[in-house]
Amino acid sequence: MYYKLNTLWKELSLDLIFTLFLQNIMVYVTRKVHFNGAHKLFNPNWTEEQNDEVFGKCANKNWHGHNFDLYVTVKGVPNPDTGFVMDLKKLKVILEDKVVSKLDHKNFNLDVDFLKDVMPSIENIVIKIWEQIEHELPQGANLHCIKLYETENQFVEYYG
Ligand SMILES: [Zn+2]
Repeated sequence: MYYKLNTLWKELSLDLIFTLFLQNIMVYVTRKVHFNGAHKLFNPNWTEEQNDEVFGKCANKNWHGHNFDLYVTVKGVPNPDTGFVMDLKKLKVILEDKVVSKLDHKNFNLDVDFLKDVMPSIENIVIKIWEQIEHELPQGANLHCIKLYETENQFVEYYG
């Protein structure tokens, strides 16, 4: 066993050892974006009274709006050439393209393709946002957390 390990270590280049060492150094980077939107929480299988009881003002039939703040955190090992986990300008472009342009100034119940047939609670919205962007990230950068603030005092987090 000792002999085998000793041989293995001799065969590993310094670069590879350094890479293996770096693999434990995970850094988390976050981009914040903002959008405004309207929704209502309403279960069509329930009576109006049941909806009012469960969702209160959020069931208002003519919608209501929020100013949403979205925090998207990506994890990875900093690239030795750039020092970046990923280029945050690219993350901004992905978020604008896949999320903000689809949600900003929209009615989440009616206008958004990726929220079709989804109850647009912030819990469900973060799950759908995750699906929108998880495959858009460059190699080596992985989605870690999506946090969505509906109000200053109310937010959800999703870790995939
Ligand atoms: Zn609401």
